[in-house]
Amino acid sequence: MSADRELIDDDDVVGPDLAAMRSLLLAQRDELLDAVPDLDAEVFRTRSDVSDGSGETEHLVVAEQKDLTARVDALTERAVEEIDEALARIDAGTYGRCTDCGTPIPTERLEAVPAAATCLDCRSVRERGGGLV
Ligand SMILES: [Zn+2]
Repeated sequence: MSADRELIDDDDVVGPDLAAMRSLLLAQRDELLDAVPDLDAEVFRTRSDVSDGSGETEHLVVAEQKDLTARVDALTERAVEEIDEALARIDAGTYGRCTDCGTPIPTERLEAVPAAATCLDCRSVRERGGGLV
């Protein structure tokens, strides 16, 4: 009986379920990429709706929409990049370790943020430094 318990403990040390994490990451990636064409369609619709109005208003509305789309696109792009990097770490066998200090990232953090590249300590150091990455 005690031998069984030791075996279970060994399994816990292995860390996150890589197969589960990979499908989580791929699902998040699909969701992000699916959202982008919707935004583009929105800009096109707005442009044709206001085409009968005055030229200035039309210009402003389209510019605002483009601004928003560009901002969302940049965020989406960064999120997709982070997911790609996490998938690469799964392939390389380094997934689940902080890319800054090498400490294993807690499984709860990985389950909440599957693309997490750093432990919370390193993350807060980065945020204090004002860097985006
Ligand atoms: Zn760290």
